[in-house]
Amino acid sequence: MEFINEERINDILKNPALKKEDYQKTVIEKAKLKKGISVEEAGALLNIETPELYQELFLTANELKQSIYGNRLVMFAPLYLTNACVNNCLYCGFRKDNKELTRRTLSIDEVGQEADSLIRQGHKRLLLVCGEHPKISNVEFVGEAIRKIYSLDYNGNNIRRVNVNIAPLSLEDFKKLNSYEIGTYQLFQETYHYDTYKIMHPSGPKKDYAYRLTAPNRAFEAGIDDLGIGALFGLTDPKWETLAMLMHAEYMEATLGVGPHTISVPRLEPALNAPSANQPPNAVDDLTFKKIIAVLRLAAPYTGIILSTRERAELRRELFNVGISQISAGSKTSPGSYKDSENPESHGQKDMEQFSLGDHRSLNEVVKDVCEQGYMPSFCTACYRSGRTGDRFMALAKDGTIGHICSPNAMATFKEYMIDFADKGTIEVGEKALAEQVEKLPEKTKNKTKSMISKLENGERDVYF
Ligand code: SAM
Ligand code: SF4
Repeated sequence: MEFINEERINDILKNPALKKEDYQKTVIEKAKLKKGISVEEAGALLNIETPELYQELFLTANELKQSIYGNRLVMFAPLYLTNACVNNCLYCGFRKDNKELTRRTLSIDEVGQEADSLIRQGHKRLLLVCGEHPKISNVEFVGEAIRKIYSLDYNGNNIRRVNVNIAPLSLEDFKKLNSYEIGTYQLFQETYHYDTYKIMHPSGPKKDYAYRLTAPNRAFEAGIDDLGIGALFGLTDPKWETLAMLMHAEYMEATLGVGPHTISVPRLEPALNAPSANQPPNAVDDLTFKKIIAVLRLAAPYTGIILSTRERAELRRELFNVGISQISAGSKTSPGSYKDSENPESHGQKDMEQFSLGDHRSLNEVVKDVCEQGYMPSFCTACYRSGRTGDRFMALAKDGTIGHICSPNAMATFKEYMIDFADKGTIEVGEKALAEQVEKLPEKTKNKTKSMISKLENGERDVYF
């Protein structure tokens, strides 16, 4: 726990030298070398106030993301297994004391129906999410759900990577979880600020700050080497939170030899009977949020940064330009809601959801929009299936190889999506974007990509390298 050094963070925030523009400019220059920056230097960037300088920050974040990963944006959707929960997080609609929430736990067959609905929309990557309930959301149940999801197939289309965001486990249970072939294990500390954490988590197992903070290390020991971290913005001072999260990343790098695979930046959204969500104690405005994402990209250039549908479409578009590399699309936050929404008579499941969303567009609409913004939607799951995880993935990211793998795989999986799922409008925009992007590839990769595309046109599926 000592690695979240509150004194060090407080000193950074007070330090007048870190508010000087000249110094902030030198930090931006240093970040361009793609070697990351220290927590102190990130503190200096978070202090940037002048529009010229934060525009420079935004441009640099975009350049870094583009030069490492190219213009691909990886797509996924969350799948909720249950909204039953024994915790009482003051910001969450699933909290135990929310008596107005209609509780629902999916059967394994219903999990299959949800996944099937997502496969038929074109998704290839899911994030499993659930409340914490020892009798319901235990590792065996999650494992069975994963098996069911991987077993489904719809004309060669299937879920190829299941990431998991569930409450922290013991070492033994993490080993079991790993045996189900998960992708990334994600866990958000919510707030790294100890006193705030204590207030926000008044009861249930989640009130143990240290057990949660040390979970990524236990997961790693159990063999899971793609680990995601995150903080729930709005609970405490956002600059403080960002620096603490970077300290966590620094600690992971030092102790595990590899930093986080992803960083998530959820921001508080309104939720039923969740006092701290409906009146966030430290609401984060859009500009501050944008600066935070850009600073994270400069500080951890090789890490995936995930943006969810909590945010509105217009803001999401802006944030793609400051280093976001993965996004959810077409999401719902209550168990059973994908299947339910296929029913034209359905009125939604407001009384079952975890929080309300800012972006309600379908996957097809988001894909089209992403293309129009000059990004390449990606459904790629190649790295994890080819053993490129943990430090092996990071090594490829650091030596620049990953971009040469990501771009062609993004293009092939996007082509596959267009053949099987896109509507006419998306195909029009998408084919044009794809043709342009393929021509921009270096000769060798271009030929490989064209050959993957023709295989897909000839009926093959799941083509990647
Ligand atoms: N129950 C597990 C846990 O708490 O670790 C699994 C994840 S929980 C269902 C998913 C995440 O949703 C939480 O970690 C939290 O960051 C986020 N969340 C909860 N309430 C939220 C709200 N009102 N607005 C935005 N995000 C919220
Ligand atoms: Fe339960 Fe997680 Fe919601 Fe907390 S954030 S109430 S643990 S589902």
